[in-house]
Amino acid sequence: MVRIHWHWTAGNLVPSDGDRRAYHFLIDGSGAVVRGVPSIAANSGALKAGYAAHTRAANTGAIGVAVCGMAGAVESPFNAGRAPINAEQIETLIAVSRVLGQRYRIPVSRRTMLSHAEVQPTLGIAQSGKWDFTRLPSLPDLRGAHAIGDYLRARIGETVPMTEPAPPLPPQPAAPLPVPAGAKGVVNAPSTLNVRREPNVNSERIGGLPNGTRIEIIGAQAPWLQMRSPAGHVGWVHGTYVDIVDGPPATEPTTPSPLRAAAQRLRDLADELEASIA
Ligand SMILES: [Zn+2]
Repeated sequence: MVRIHWHWTAGNLVPSDGDRRAYHFLIDGSGAVVRGVPSIAANSGALKAGYAAHTRAANTGAIGVAVCGMAGAVESPFNAGRAPINAEQIETLIAVSRVLGQRYRIPVSRRTMLSHAEVQPTLGIAQSGKWDFTRLPSLPDLRGAHAIGDYLRARIGETVPMTEPAPPLPPQPAAPLPVPAGAKGVVNAPSTLNVRREPNVNSERIGGLPNGTRIEIIGAQAPWLQMRSPAGHVGWVHGTYVDIVDGPPATEPTTPSPLRAAAQRLRDLADELEASIA
């Protein structure tokens, strides 16, 4: 295959059986790709029975891709008719052309990926007034077959980054965490404590916790606490209504510092002295 021709069906946003017989691929009004009836192989080399007859005298080696729509459209003065093709369809057309170009090694150029309206001026094969695409409803500032074709080719040729490194986060003010992650808490609210999706009173309420519910604190953004409920639900609650009852689980190493032990002995001694004086 050596070329891709872009068309519209001049029909409805949903392809008819006749539409499907005329093209290899169609793009319906939702932007979904619909396979046409003809095989691509039928247009390869000598035309074979059942080939896609999408472009007058220029079907050999040409893949036909049609955007569904533009029934009743008029070129001048421009009127998109009762089924205007939309921006989603054009985005799909760009993506489909990129994939087909890679699959069949068809370069992105005016002579190899072109609209039906470009066939006559570029390839010199008469097409009896075909104007798909000299206007597109979703790109009203582009007028003329080459202006639209050049735009589509530029978009198809864009290199799409596979993975883009995440931008660095802006410096965050060091917000004091009211409790360490891993702490346990108990709900102590005037009524059921609202659980929200985000640490924000306007955020969606995703549940409620009755008084006395034990929760695990897994994050904090003062005064909000991110918690996991006994049932495993995660959300944000207002820290005012949570009594912290337990510190975080011990982390390695568990051997206390000798300094800590010495300080504890001094405190015990001070307590004993205070008690004996009283
Ligand atoms: Zn056409």
